[in-house]
Amino acid sequence: MSKIRFATVWLAGCSGCHMSFLDLDEWLIDLAAQVEVVFSPVGCDLKDYPENVDVCLVEGAIANEENLELIYHVRAHTKTLISFGDCAVTANVPAMRNMLGGAEPVLKRAYIELGDETPQLPNEPGIVPELLDQVRPVHELVPVDIFMPGCPPSAERIRATLEPLLRGEMPVMEGREMIKFG
Ligand code: SF4
Repeated sequence: MSKIRFATVWLAGCSGCHMSFLDLDEWLIDLAAQVEVVFSPVGCDLKDYPENVDVCLVEGAIANEENLELIYHVRAHTKTLISFGDCAVTANVPAMRNMLGGAEPVLKRAYIELGDETPQLPNEPGIVPELLDQVRPVHELVPVDIFMPGCPPSAERIRATLEPLLRGEMPVMEGREMIKFG
């Protein structure tokens, strides 16, 4: 039987959800035996998201053009897309900047008003991605198959979500253990 093609993606998040994934400790060895890791910011150095991915954990909100391009690509090439953590599910912390009303006031506040010696806006086309005016949760841009809240989701919740998928079943995302935010 071919292995499940497994990926994780890091968008606008603090990487805390991926740190929680690493808290799976020795179960990661069991997981590695059952999946083929085809893309992830942890544990491998693959630059391009491939085709035919079975399961993908998506950490983070959609905050810039690079996030936007990647999430469309991920959705097009993934069977089961999991919104992984509160930033992916609700936009959470990255969306706090939405109250300033757009990308321009955010950049001015951060780089001009609070700039120290040489205030200037970051501008490096092709290297620094343009901010979107509003930070948005993943499901507002693409369909999501499973919502796994938590900031971060605990290792136990991650395992309880992935184990049924490894058996070819959908996890039941119900109850405090599986869907509590924060
Ligand atoms: S949900 Fe929490 S831990 Fe995960 S990326 Fe967002 S802020 Fe970090």
